[in-house]
Amino acid sequence: MPELPEVEVIKRGLQQYLPGRRVIAVSAGNKKLRLPMPRKDLTEYIKGEHVTAVDRRARFLLITMDNGARLVIHLGMTGKLSIIPQASRKAKHDHFRLLLDSGKQLVFNDIRRFGFILVLAPERDFSRTMLANLGPEPLDHDFTPLYLQKLAQGKNRPLKNFLMDNRTVAGIGNIYASEIMFQARLRPEKKISTLTRKQWERVVESCRYVLEKAIKSGGTSISDFVNESGRRGYFQLELQTYGRQGKPCIYCNMPIKKITMAGRSTFFCPHCQK
Ligand SMILES: [Zn+2]
Repeated sequence: MPELPEVEVIKRGLQQYLPGRRVIAVSAGNKKLRLPMPRKDLTEYIKGEHVTAVDRRARFLLITMDNGARLVIHLGMTGKLSIIPQASRKAKHDHFRLLLDSGKQLVFNDIRRFGFILVLAPERDFSRTMLANLGPEPLDHDFTPLYLQKLAQGKNRPLKNFLMDNRTVAGIGNIYASEIMFQARLRPEKKISTLTRKQWERVVESCRYVLEKAIKSGGTSISDFVNESGRRGYFQLELQTYGRQGKPCIYCNMPIKKITMAGRSTFFCPHCQK
């Protein structure tokens, strides 16, 4: 499943191809994704407009048009975006295409159809969409140890569930949650009200370290993620806990343990993480 680093890599890729380009045609398939395809809004607000910016919020990609409308794309489990020549033939599981005045097209392909496309009309406010109530971005300056410590006060939730809650911090998924806690040397089940300021500092530093490293290596390709140029990411080779149950910890050689938390596989070193 594409996580934050993958979406960030795709965003940076799209930033090279989309801003300044005009959308000359929109083509949307008949199959239902997680949400119905917004055909009418695509024709009304996206077609004929120029792209002014490409941004990311949590795991959503936001493509802003010069009329103020925004195209929101979520890749779900198996969604892929590619920029390919306009003459390229439609492939199986292509659900959506934007034809650009550059002679290229943006294609959204999704085998399992858990992804979706949404159009926010000009001046529509975020507070009534699924982009509302998102916490700070983990790479932004407002994501601080003090912010986390205050939010955690008096709460008994396990650290991993707290970090995977989009209201705490935007876009940390299951794979990177395990990696971040390994880097921070903290147990996934640890109750958040018991963490000290020093430990929250380690959480924030580890979030930045793990996510930035993943972005740098081009995103993970555990599922069949392919980035905008059709290259695969490499970060899965460097995962230190995720999917490594029974294998030796890179620091102490103890076998990595796997447990289930909130229905999700969770990996940690019982020796290094306290
Ligand atoms: Zn260890």
